[in-house]
Amino acid sequence: MGRLKNRALVHQDRQKRGAVLGDLLRAKIGVFCWCNRCGHSAEVDAVMLVQQLGPAFPVPEVGTKMRCTSCESKDVATRPAWPSHGPIARHD
Ligand SMILES: [Zn+2]
Repeated sequence: MGRLKNRALVHQDRQKRGAVLGDLLRAKIGVFCWCNRCGHSAEVDAVMLVQQLGPAFPVPEVGTKMRCTSCESKDVATRPAWPSHGPIARHD
């Protein structure tokens, strides 16, 4: 029981912290960004970000390069825009 739970946590952890822009490019998903100040959110194409920042750039740090298009705040958070429903069935 505990083992299964741990494995699930590790998997989640990889999705949250381990992703770099090149991973998103391969998975054909974008970067989900939201503003901590006004709550504005948007999904940004990974192709564009890879061109600007390179494929090894960590996804959670993309927010440090961004500015909210709504309120111009630089307090922007980013994460991979994984599909929100259903398990991820494919494993490398
Ligand atoms: Zn904002």
